Amino acid sequence: MGAATGIMNDFSHLPSVDTLLRADQATDLIKQYGRELTLAAIRDTLDDIRMHLKTPDEASEPLNDQRLLKIASVRLQSWLAPTLCPVINATGVILHTNLGRAPLSQSAQQALLAAASGYNTLEYDLLNGSRGSRTVHASNLLCRLTGAEAALVVNNNAAAMLLVLSAFARRKGVVISRTQLVEIGGGFRIPEVMAQSGARLIEVGTTNRVSLADYESALERDPIALLHAHHSNFKIIGFTSEPALKDLADLASRNHLLMIDDQGSGALLDTAHFGLGHEPTVQESLAAGCDLVCFSGDKLLGGPQAGIILGKNELVAKLKKHPLARAMRVDKLCLAALSATLIHYLKGDAENQIPVWRMISETEASLKLRTSAWQATLDFGTIIGGLSTVGGGSLPEETLPTSLLALDVRNPHNFMVKLRQVDPPVIARIENDQVMLDPRTVLPAQDTALLSALQKTLD
Ligand SMILES: *Cc1c(COP(=O)(O)O)cnc(C)c1O
Repeated sequence: MGAATGIMNDFSHLPSVDTLLRADQATDLIKQYGRELTLAAIRDTLDDIRMHLKTPDEASEPLNDQRLLKIASVRLQSWLAPTLCPVINATGVILHTNLGRAPLSQSAQQALLAAASGYNTLEYDLLNGSRGSRTVHASNLLCRLTGAEAALVVNNNAAAMLLVLSAFARRKGVVISRTQLVEIGGGFRIPEVMAQSGARLIEVGTTNRVSLADYESALERDPIALLHAHHSNFKIIGFTSEPALKDLADLASRNHLLMIDDQGSGALLDTAHFGLGHEPTVQESLAAGCDLVCFSGDKLLGGPQAGIILGKNELVAKLKKHPLARAMRVDKLCLAALSATLIHYLKGDAENQIPVWRMISETEASLKLRTSAWQATLDFGTIIGGLSTVGGGSLPEETLPTSLLALDVRNPHNFMVKLRQVDPPVIARIENDQVMLDPRTVLPAQDTALLSALQKTLD
């Protein structure tokens, strides 16, 4: 008997899809996952076995109906397993781009839920019972907060920059310093965004130094705007200089050019109050005289992903009418969460209510109380001093002193792998061959889950 006959014989034992569907377990699966999906999983399971099983011996357990349906059920689970799931961030990087940047405040979460669960006034004017505009929602709060004349919210800061440059600088020159031709990460490169918008790049200065005179000499190349971009995620040190934003804005104003600032982080509070370096604020950009200021909603602002554009009335009006604005518009969920976040700043409780600022302002002493409690519960690990970072393309090289729980485990790498397999997964970091847990970025409500994950992994 040849091998081919052997395979045929083996497969002839496999039940048909219809037979499997009639089994009790299949009924349960259909209840849980629906008929179409269950059918697809059963078909896939059978196909897989026909393709991969060469001889009957390879099946460690007999492939009876029960076992086949079990395999189908595992397949169904993995098809529907969430890919976007909550994790515990024990890395100490506050704005961790890979972990979703800023967690939202309680009231932003409530606003999200309220907007999600029913109808709302997204584009409805209650007073007149007529069509309203979605652009009003966060805008009035942004203007009140910053003193800007007008505001527009789009999908993210990359979109904001693309919109601004497309609307005002298409086929026109834009002057930017070589010190600021930056890549932010996630594929955002200032020169590429400029090229995409159709703007002509006019580079001035050198990699490390640029002067006002450099900008002045570029004026003969007939630009429409000066662009200033925050360095965001890197720092130039040593023999460096850049003119103050105010001097650039004055130069732009004297020459009837637009002054555009890619402010980046959306800092509305002064980070220097928390022992960090000073991150330029949105208010400072406006006070310097910039015509348009762009920044992210989910960095130091501490809100949802968004790109915020502030500026003069007639400029923002032109942006609103641009076809790209429609393509980049934000949804009701974003506007709800953003508005709630902005209200914290207006009421003066941002530092207590917005998780990013609560994390920034937490002292080493209070963090040490948490690592001590963790250590006591686990009866394992040593408490050592360490450093947290802000992350998210702001304040590079700046750190906050923290208290770490250091775990001396046999294989730190394997331990981290195991920690990531718990539900919810824990993301930590390795330093000096130890697994380090930083309480700064672990939300207090997650302490119990963190400890149970650690206990399971330590066992
Ligand atoms: C982060 C950042 C961006 C990109 O913002 P997204 O909201 O992530 O699109 C652009 N410019 C600067 C200076 C930044 O820091």
